[in-house]
Amino acid sequence: MKDLEKFRDPRIAKALIKEVGALAARVAERLGRRVVLMEVCGTHTVAISRAGLRGLLGDCLDLRSGPGCPVCVADYADIDRMVAFARLPGITVGTFGDMVRVPGSVSSLERERAAGAKIRIFYSPADAVAYAADHPEREVVFLGVGFETTAPAVALSIKEAESRGLKNFSVFVTHKVVPPALDALLGDPELKIDGFILPGHVSAIIGLKAYDSLNSRRLPSVITGFEANDILDAVRQLLQMMLAGEGRVINGYARVVRTAGNMIAQQQMAEVFDIADAPWRGFGIIPDSGLVMGERFKKFDALDKFALPPIKPRVPTGCACGDILKGKLAPRDCTLFERVCKPMAPVGPCMVSSEGACAAYYNYERHLKGVAAVE
Ligand code: SF4
Repeated sequence: MKDLEKFRDPRIAKALIKEVGALAARVAERLGRRVVLMEVCGTHTVAISRAGLRGLLGDCLDLRSGPGCPVCVADYADIDRMVAFARLPGITVGTFGDMVRVPGSVSSLERERAAGAKIRIFYSPADAVAYAADHPEREVVFLGVGFETTAPAVALSIKEAESRGLKNFSVFVTHKVVPPALDALLGDPELKIDGFILPGHVSAIIGLKAYDSLNSRRLPSVITGFEANDILDAVRQLLQMMLAGEGRVINGYARVVRTAGNMIAQQQMAEVFDIADAPWRGFGIIPDSGLVMGERFKKFDALDKFALPPIKPRVPTGCACGDILKGKLAPRDCTLFERVCKPMAPVGPCMVSSEGACAAYYNYERHLKGVAAVE
């Protein structure tokens, strides 16, 4: 069997599902409640939904989605600032695709584009730098959105703009880093998370040391890949740890994640950005959870370069994205889910993004009950 095939083999999946169901029953009996595990990566959310794992693992296990969709955790005020940049004359806003449809308080980049604003989707921040070099008559503001997976490429683009002497390129930095959000989840007294399924891509960048806090809390956590059997195996390892009374971070994705992570990417981020407190949708400010432009590259900071009007964000009535991102509710618990909010007419970012929990549940798991309905 080729290496990758075993992660997709239905016979292995069947055996894992059976084993996980039995282990979950034992742990749930010990806890006196369902076992709550959280996947903190949007790509895992989609993989779990697409494979239908939530419905296959039985009633003893409660798999919740967390704050792993980068577009979804963007704060309302930041979305409004993106719209404000798009409204400034002479500016081209460059962004990754998902961001365009995310609604802010009064508009979205998509609506601004329809009204005449210059919004360009770039597959890579390097393309935005090349565009700025080819269009010296326009100011290009790139939207730096995402976790440790996208931040290194944005850091590189800023260095590239510097080395090319570009004066018409800047970045609105809203990057976030994952580990402090895990601490915030564990510090919430309303949440009882028994274990984390940790993100594969982010971990490939930050390595295992970044999860020291989980190790010191002795919280069972497994880094894993994105095939159904990867995820099932991670759940199995989490449950086995719980039965054994153990709690540590296991690297279940060693084919990609190295212990030290990607040190070149880490170095690029450290060179360009500083760590700062950051606002996350649903969480508020999480200490040391964001990146801001470092002093040396301040001239590429769009917030410093342009004066924006005062921002007064308004959260749409009824949207439960904040609680969904914290795992307190499932998409089905939102009264707007499916009735009003759908991928073609999204009310909140969790329905916009391909990695959003609401979109994943809508596409693959509409029949399942919400957290509120089960508890
Ligand atoms: S279903 Fe729509 S309105 Fe409800 S939480 Fe999800 S994105 Fe927000």
